[in-house]
Amino acid sequence: MWSPKGVAALDLACGSVEILAELVRRNGPAVVLTGAGVSTESGLPDFRSPGTGLWESIDPVEHLSAKALRRRPAEFWRLFAVAFAAGLGARPNVGHLALARLEAAGHVRSVVTQNIDGLHQAAGSRRVLEVHGSLRTASCRRCGLVVPLKEALDQLGRQEVPECTCGGTLRPDVVLFEDPMPPVFETAWREAASAGLLLVVGSSLTVWPAAGLAEVAPRLAIINRDATPYDNRAEVVLRAGSGQTLTELVRCLGVG
Ligand code: ZN
Repeated sequence: MWSPKGVAALDLACGSVEILAELVRRNGPAVVLTGAGVSTESGLPDFRSPGTGLWESIDPVEHLSAKALRRRPAEFWRLFAVAFAAGLGARPNVGHLALARLEAAGHVRSVVTQNIDGLHQAAGSRRVLEVHGSLRTASCRRCGLVVPLKEALDQLGRQEVPECTCGGTLRPDVVLFEDPMPPVFETAWREAASAGLLLVVGSSLTVWPAAGLAEVAPRLAIINRDATPYDNRAEVVLRAGSGQTLTELVRCLGVG
């Protein structure tokens, strides 16, 4: 553990997580911001990780943008299915379950997530703000009808571009490159700004505007395997995996 504010470094046992637990006790319920690091423990790829990222072989801004969907819908859907189909079959891991437990015990007020896999809800989290959308649904660009995303992907076996019954092109309900942020982001911003504690888990805090939430939060704690640009603003930084650390936090708070 490394703390820029002078908290003594300890091994990652309950000892170091206890400092985080104390922050939560004093300043909670916390608002939690989760990123790809929480989902990778469910076997999902982090597309931005060096060496493993799909984004190294294709340019997402070019191929998975709102503009690409308009101009080259068949290519868009082919790449989208390759990139995100795994997310539909993933299951929550111990980190997701720990956050749901912390919410049920009153230590977490809401989960703001950059992930689109729906695993927080699957684990039992109730107040989840999905600032990058979700893989649950797709909607018609012409009439707005919402259908399960699986239905759109199933159509790909028969045709190149999934279509609504009205003939309009379907689009996944995720925030694409070049898309504006959805209205729920404003709610997330208010949550972070008014939180007694923003607990960032598994996010490198490099993707804007979600990373801006770390900037408006009055008090910050970070659990992430790698350094983030906001480590020097945090009260506690735990350089560790999310599942083990959150499970330990549940135990330290006595709600396991
Ligand atoms: Zn339609």
